[in-house]
Amino acid sequence: MTAPARITHFIDGSPWGGQAERTSPVYNPATGEQTGELDLASGDLVGEAVAAAHTAFAEWGRTSLAKRVQVLFRFRELLNERKGEIAALITAEHGKVLSDAEGEVARGLEVVEFACGIPHLMKGGYSESASTGVDVYSIRQPLGVCAVISPFNFPAMVPLWFLPVAIATGNTVVLKPSEKDPSAAQAIVELWHEAGLPGGVLQLVHGDKEAVDALLTHPDVKAVSFVGSTPIAKYVYETGTAHGKRVQALGGAKNHMLVLPDADLDLAADAAINAGFGSAGERCMAISALVVVDSVADELVAKISERMASLRTGDGTRGTDMGPLVTAAHRDKVAGYIDAGEEAGATLVVDGRGGDVDADGEGFFVNPTLFDHVSSQMSIYTDEIFGPVLSVVRVATYDEGLDLINANPYGNGTAIFTNDGGAARRFQDEVQVGMVGINVPIPVPVSYYSFGGWKNSLFGDSHAHGTEGVHFFTRGKVVTSRWLDPSHGGINLGFPQNA
Ligand code: NAD
Repeated sequence: MTAPARITHFIDGSPWGGQAERTSPVYNPATGEQTGELDLASGDLVGEAVAAAHTAFAEWGRTSLAKRVQVLFRFRELLNERKGEIAALITAEHGKVLSDAEGEVARGLEVVEFACGIPHLMKGGYSESASTGVDVYSIRQPLGVCAVISPFNFPAMVPLWFLPVAIATGNTVVLKPSEKDPSAAQAIVELWHEAGLPGGVLQLVHGDKEAVDALLTHPDVKAVSFVGSTPIAKYVYETGTAHGKRVQALGGAKNHMLVLPDADLDLAADAAINAGFGSAGERCMAISALVVVDSVADELVAKISERMASLRTGDGTRGTDMGPLVTAAHRDKVAGYIDAGEEAGATLVVDGRGGDVDADGEGFFVNPTLFDHVSSQMSIYTDEIFGPVLSVVRVATYDEGLDLINANPYGNGTAIFTNDGGAARRFQDEVQVGMVGINVPIPVPVSYYSFGGWKNSLFGDSHAHGTEGVHFFTRGKVVTSRWLDPSHGGINLGFPQNA
């Protein structure tokens, strides 16, 4: 066994040289082995990172679009070259299988490519002769120092939802990734600097609540992009806005997939497996509730359980289908939900507690689990489990299914499976959820659209990336200008009117 590697902050273009007062362990969840020891930032250290970003903003905010974009293109090339290394870091600390980790980096790369077009995205409007001799135009300017606080489940993609857009628009950033799997973010920050990003434009601070609180209350932090569980997202939104910051705080989820009787049930069964058990259910867009019209429920449950028999769980570097959960505590929590579902009287069709696992050591595994006859009062339905547990809730009609989805306090993603275009069109109109799939189980928008849920899945007004991301990281200004010509002049104290 090798000694855990030290993982530390990156401030003003260099790794931090200090001695941390507090550290926290990082594990390989497939083996249960501790692989890293992470330095946790104090409030004072966060202050140093913000100060470096504040100083760098004076220059970066005024750097030309052409020069900023050159860094983005170089970063894009480096990320593309090194995506395999970053995927390997994700698998080693998060546990998701390598192909899934590669997919995560690819989705992050898309946002970098989107941000490479920032000169076009930041263009304002221009109205010549809005009034006689008067032109009006709009410009967008960066905010200053922005904080990005990310969760464990997408250690590369979520930072990449925000960093490219924040940096391209001229802001400087302090990134605080999850303390559970920090190395992918570390590698990404190093790549930005290799791409030529000036020292203080992007800092990395590792930490927990202490670091987050320091960011939320620091007067020089102008905006906060947060992604994590709903209670923390709400706290971050309330604290950040109370301190005068612009905040977008993306929270948890409970995503439903509605299956109508005319759906292709093989397609629906494949989709339920992929969206329910991919990344061991640790995706904010995972499907966790299958809402099935009763007449086809028996057949669909049979098709899903048949497919589950061939799934291989294990170490994500070994070509398995599903990896472990992120920590031992999370594994125990998920197993506790399976106990609770059984006690509450749901039918446990496939029990993921125990079973074969292809891994060495004592990894944090729960195998894919399927419940049928789940009711909306059971905790396996009401709570975000964030594990490989699919619950089938049977309904009599489309309307009953829709009402169930709309009554749920979360509204991140949802999907409908049907061959009826009219029903699908009605669903996209009526469902109270931010991202909707039609025969697509994980409808994560492409980077030039914006990602975000409704209700308890997002606090704030702006979704991530796409044009909403550009708006979030910039402030609009409108200029009304007149260059004197001989026809103008004279005193008039009245309110300006257009003529
Ligand atoms: P989390 O809320 O535990 O942690 C998120 C971040 O908040 C981390 O950086 C963490 O260090 C920090 N944090 C933790 N406790 C804190 C506290 N008390 N005060 C201040 N900061 C704190 O979330 P997680 O377990 O890392 O990630 C999983 C959650 O994130 C799930 O609920 C999932 O649905 C959600 N998520 C949502 C989206 C989305 O787009 N809506 C995307 C990914 C993940």
